[in-house]
Amino acid sequence: MESALTARDRVGVQDFVLLENHTSEAAFIENLRKRFKENLIYTYIGSVLVSVNPYKDLEIYTKNHMERYRGVNFYEVSPHVYAVSDNSYRSMRTERKDQCILISGESGAGKTEASKKILQYYAVTCPASDQVETVKDRLLQSNPVLEAFGNAKTLRNDNSSRFGKYMDIQFDFKGAPVGGHILNYLLEKSRVVHQNHGERNFHIFYQLIEGGEEDLLRRLGLERNPQQYQYLVKGNCPKVSSINDRSDWKVVRKALSVIGFSEDEVEELLNIIASVLHLGNIQYGGEDSGNAYITTDTQIKYLARLLGVDGLVLKEALTHKTIIAKGEELKSPLNLEQASSARDALSKAVYGRTFTWLVNKINVSLAYKFFISAVLTVPFIGLLDIYGFEVFQHNSFEQFCINYCNEKLQQLFIELTLKSEQDEYEAEGITWEPVQYFNNKIICDLVEEKFKGIISILDEECLRPGDASDITFLEKLENTVGGHAHLTTHKLADGKTRKVMGREEFRLLHYAGEVNYNVNGFLDKNNDLLFRNLKEVMCMSDNKILTQCFDRAELKDSKRPETAATQFKTSLAKLMEILMSKEPSYVRCIKPNDAKQAGRFDDVLIRHQVKYLGLMENLRVRRAGFAYRRHYETFLQRYKSLCPETWPSWQGKLADGVSTLVKHLGYKPEEYKLGRSKIFIRFPKTLFATEDALETR
Ligand code: ADP
Ligand code: MG
Repeated sequence: MESALTARDRVGVQDFVLLENHTSEAAFIENLRKRFKENLIYTYIGSVLVSVNPYKDLEIYTKNHMERYRGVNFYEVSPHVYAVSDNSYRSMRTERKDQCILISGESGAGKTEASKKILQYYAVTCPASDQVETVKDRLLQSNPVLEAFGNAKTLRNDNSSRFGKYMDIQFDFKGAPVGGHILNYLLEKSRVVHQNHGERNFHIFYQLIEGGEEDLLRRLGLERNPQQYQYLVKGNCPKVSSINDRSDWKVVRKALSVIGFSEDEVEELLNIIASVLHLGNIQYGGEDSGNAYITTDTQIKYLARLLGVDGLVLKEALTHKTIIAKGEELKSPLNLEQASSARDALSKAVYGRTFTWLVNKINVSLAYKFFISAVLTVPFIGLLDIYGFEVFQHNSFEQFCINYCNEKLQQLFIELTLKSEQDEYEAEGITWEPVQYFNNKIICDLVEEKFKGIISILDEECLRPGDASDITFLEKLENTVGGHAHLTTHKLADGKTRKVMGREEFRLLHYAGEVNYNVNGFLDKNNDLLFRNLKEVMCMSDNKILTQCFDRAELKDSKRPETAATQFKTSLAKLMEILMSKEPSYVRCIKPNDAKQAGRFDDVLIRHQVKYLGLMENLRVRRAGFAYRRHYETFLQRYKSLCPETWPSWQGKLADGVSTLVKHLGYKPEEYKLGRSKIFIRFPKTLFATEDALETR
């Protein structure tokens, strides 16, 4: 039989706190690699789960596996996302405290897959009643629908979520899932009208074109060829080998009906999707500086029918803009460029608002119907699957928002892990030794502070009439926060030690590393404006979904709508509040290579992620003082056979039993401490010696 020691050599340790050299990044990565080679994709840092995407189907998600993790002690079975799921579930049940599971990692690291595994675990293992079955189905079926409309093929991930998602699952007093609620964050709308090379638009467009029945396509005026559509050809990538649009279409259609969409609603929804494609094919004629006119009347005809609007009015709105000045409506013609961007703005608005409608609709279907009394509060488990830190060759407004979001989550992570560590030491009556760590609050402030934060400065430029432009925004940044330790612009770059920066860029030194943002498009994307007359047309639509998306009240409201960045900031602040009120668990996902290949472990890439996920820091906090801790009962149960006085059972107080046991094993006083309910062991080697004794006994 393999001894515990050689097993450790081969498969590494299942908890990083047990690493001999816990400050060494090389040792950390070596441990990950060993485990990855053995298909052991999960490893703990204390109670944090680190997961490496295997890029192949492993036989570890069967019903048997689920059963194995039900109700067992976290540390007694090998690390698994089911263990985290079960642990949160039981804390929710026993302590009646809301839980949340925060899943983070870069694009393609496995966040969405992890969140699906967690949901499946609850769907399979939690008790159920008849009514509950439908809720479970709906919870599960909400995924394919949201993915069809909110996911796309990118260079990093064939099924990349282009929106952030927080899902609350509600449980009744028997522990059965009875409802759910989804909050969505910042859909990447720009993808509707433009895709980078090798990327695609949202899946639903291809699913409809490839999978839609003949008469459906005929009714929608669509051809079965994605190459026909301007909005689908930009990335030059209509087909993806890992994706079957046709069968996905069937899955989505079925999911829509399970969730409770009526046939009429599906029809209205598809009318909108088809309309976006027709909008993209609208072409303009006219001189560069002259007035634009529409040259594609077929599209207008289809649009008028599908959206239930007057074709002439729509045509007029796509070539003119109206503004209200001094109470009077002024209409002026658009030139070619303006008209194209008005059309694209309409497509983005229609798609973005329809997506929000879809999420609301799913929420109605997931709502806990039997929730009558406010006294009967139901506990929640929240799942956060949100975009990870992104650095591309070219980073724009979207990356700025996404990375800001990651700064906020990192801050929450630091605060909560440090705090829970500290709380545990205090609860156990053990002296807390302060830990040094980098607090990224300074970067959050730089982005979000009132008046002098980047978002404030951007909003100010967006509101300023006259010559405001992306470049004046950059200049204002230089003048206001140019001296900040975490911000650099072209003007300040010393050229010697830094890479040359473009004139349109500013660089943020994030906790995860440097990112250069190109300001081109910042003002437009932040303004997210739709001309008044286009809004008016949409308000006139017969389409029942659009009438809910475009509200007439919006037209009367003379106040400017909040900018995109400010809306995002507000929704993030709310999210932080929600998360702070719950007991968190963490899943930190790592992507092993950029080729989406099984078995490849790319050191450089992984080291980078270990760094910006803050895993070494996390380990340091966890190891400050004591590497290992266990409840007296668990510890005694496992090792009682090693001491004649505790074998076969200890009759006295648990603490005394543990004390007798470790004295018998020869633990030195500096090697351990006894808290109120747990033993704390300082070095892994102490525990290993005990484990080996168990093995060789
Ligand atoms: P993210 O949401 O972090 O961007 P995904 O969860 O979409 O990443 O994962 C990207 C791809 O990696 C998935 O489509 C799947 O092919 C693969 N993958 C991720 N996690 C697993 C897993 N646990 N087992 C097998 N394949 C996985
Ligand atoms: Mg995802």
